[in-house]
Amino acid sequence: MFDHPDFDAHEKVLFVNDAATGLRAIIAVHSTALGAAAGGCRLWSYAADADALTDALRLSRGMSYKNAMADLPMGGGKSVILGPVASEKREAVLEAFGRAVDTLSGQYITAEDVGVSVADMQIVARTTKHVSGLSAAAGKSGGDPSPFTARGVRVGIESAVRARLGRTELAGLSVAVQGLGHVGMYLCQELNEMGANLIVADINPARVSEAQMRFGAVGVSVDDILTQPVDVVAPCALGGTITEYVARYIRASVVAGAANNQLLTAEAGRILGERGVLYAPDYVINAGGIIMVQGEISGDNDADLIRARVDAIGPRLDAIFATAKSDNVITNEVADSMARVKLDAARRMRARI
Ligand code: NAD
Repeated sequence: MFDHPDFDAHEKVLFVNDAATGLRAIIAVHSTALGAAAGGCRLWSYAADADALTDALRLSRGMSYKNAMADLPMGGGKSVILGPVASEKREAVLEAFGRAVDTLSGQYITAEDVGVSVADMQIVARTTKHVSGLSAAAGKSGGDPSPFTARGVRVGIESAVRARLGRTELAGLSVAVQGLGHVGMYLCQELNEMGANLIVADINPARVSEAQMRFGAVGVSVDDILTQPVDVVAPCALGGTITEYVARYIRASVVAGAANNQLLTAEAGRILGERGVLYAPDYVINAGGIIMVQGEISGDNDADLIRARVDAIGPRLDAIFATAKSDNVITNEVADSMARVKLDAARRMRARI
């Protein structure tokens, strides 16, 4: 296990098996050097249990990098509940999950991720207080982080098209959005308001119809969405969709979307770089949600303040793109080394205390 290719000196990995409810889950705490390990809970039906472990290990490391790069006082963690969960058992399973989170005494703070809603997290909150993404009071941010994630992605797309295409606005640009879930649909709304033309795909045809109706989007097949002749491709479904094959055939100038772990392999990132496709590192561009969640956790969650913090994703990406260009290094490697420097400094500081 300690030789797992995605094991990266994680501090703790908890395997949960609750016979009474059927809950099977993995909670991965990658780092608490910068604070409690924060990161969402994903409910997914994996083809094999090993895939769930890989997902938890990769996603929790991504959260450490994401929180460090967003300058948040939080470490990185992530949890996965192995689906499917029968609807009549869902409530009991989520309560059992909350109890498992609670055994970590605040080392890990959970929230929504793919397959998990605000209502689900409110159930988790019955059995642990180490949960976020619960609700929003007037004038405050809270509850569903997706609109903030989408705002950050839109700001990031603006930064990327400035850097790659020299364009200062999105009006008239074409964007292919893969996945019209919580974030993808809000992103379409943001992009539509800015005058971008949308091409969309989702495995759920109802989501495509909604985007067509609301935003005049053009629907295409899920197999073709990433290779559309557009300016920007925005992966907003699950991770790993930018394979080496896809990287070779992408026709857009920019890849900038919400999904975590978009690049299936490091080589896929190198191919994009060689082909002059500008890639916005996923954990930098999609930090809007966790910025909101941190506001909710700390109580410092005035909605305008959170929006301003989310908008800082733009200058952060500007700096990454500039370094990548001047040092002739691909963007995801620039971001990884910046994040590692921050984490190593925090680890050294903690060791001294
Ligand atoms: P979601 O489950 O609401 O939406 C995912 C959507 O993708 C669904 O509509 C699903 O039908 C669709 N989909 C799945 N496979 C697809 C495929 N092969 N082709 C096209 N569509 C497909 O999830 P979400 O909350 O919108 O998150 C989307 C991505 O963004 C995830 O990778 C998530 O980890 C990441 N992310 C989300 C947030 C957030 O605030 N929700 C924050 C950071 C990162």
